[in-house]
Amino acid sequence: MAAKLELAHKPTPLWRNDALDELLGLSVWVKRDDADGGAEAGNKLRKLEYLMGDALAQGAQAVITCGAAQSNHARATTLIARQLGLVAVVLLRTKDAGREPDSGNLRLMRMCGARITFVSPEQYASRDELMRAESARLKAEGLEAYVIPEGGSNGTGSLGYVDAVAELRQQQKLGLCPDNFDTIVCACGSGGTTAGLVLGVGTHGGAQRVDAIAVCDDRAYFEAVVGRIIDEARAIRDVGPPAPYSIHDAYKGPAYGVMSDEQRAFLDQLAQRCGLIADPTYSGKALFGLSRLDPRPSSALFIHTGGLPGLLA
Ligand SMILES: *Cc1c(COP(=O)(O)O)cnc(C)c1O
Repeated sequence: MAAKLELAHKPTPLWRNDALDELLGLSVWVKRDDADGGAEAGNKLRKLEYLMGDALAQGAQAVITCGAAQSNHARATTLIARQLGLVAVVLLRTKDAGREPDSGNLRLMRMCGARITFVSPEQYASRDELMRAESARLKAEGLEAYVIPEGGSNGTGSLGYVDAVAELRQQQKLGLCPDNFDTIVCACGSGGTTAGLVLGVGTHGGAQRVDAIAVCDDRAYFEAVVGRIIDEARAIRDVGPPAPYSIHDAYKGPAYGVMSDEQRAFLDQLAQRCGLIADPTYSGKALFGLSRLDPRPSSALFIHTGGLPGLLA
């Protein structure tokens, strides 16, 4: 059984807005996982409750993880590592390290004193090997290191989102939102949130299905990734079976972290009409996808996964 820390402010609020219903063309509740903490806020916190719990249980003095140069996950991991007194080591993917601006997530990582190594996209393809090598180097320095995969997306991390659905069920029982949503919708970037939600709904109920909006790669890729994480999680804990789910890859825009003009206009509409800020890499694209999902759900729970520092980069 995995050890769990309490890191996030929970239960996260459920948020409704008439103008948002109008903009999306359906009845939507937003679960504000973007408000689950301070600077460390976002969906990675729920995963880190299990991953950092495991790291401490194994006697780690350092954690190693990886991501894009503006990784929300690397930022959240760095902040929590410092809160727990652990050394944070991050491998960040970039085409040109010399041009990375000191802003957004990167600035927060630097402020915390993360040990940052920039690697090229080609090197990043072997990130798991690079992190293992880093772990061996740290051991030679006398530091026991715990490796957290990209996005915190493995079986252990995904348990945080199994628990998120149990939390939702409590909120539903209190009458804070409908007892059964058509769908739960989230952005999908490394698959752990999707896998956890799929197992959470399969275990606890609360919705008919899960719809995940891919922000990179494609449907076949994420079906394989999510399937693997689901298998890992079920080997750790008696959960599931998985609820029905779909990966949608038609809304990822021109590239990871890059929006089309139409998507950018949608992001501005969200802010202007609803006062809702979504980031351009994840939640903005996921809400854009939800506004166009076909067939249309009649009700949806949208998981706002955070990402504000990425917008400010
Ligand atoms: C990482 C991230 C996601 C994607 O979650 P995965 O579990 O990696 O698929 C979505 N939104 C934000 C803001 C993120 O940082």
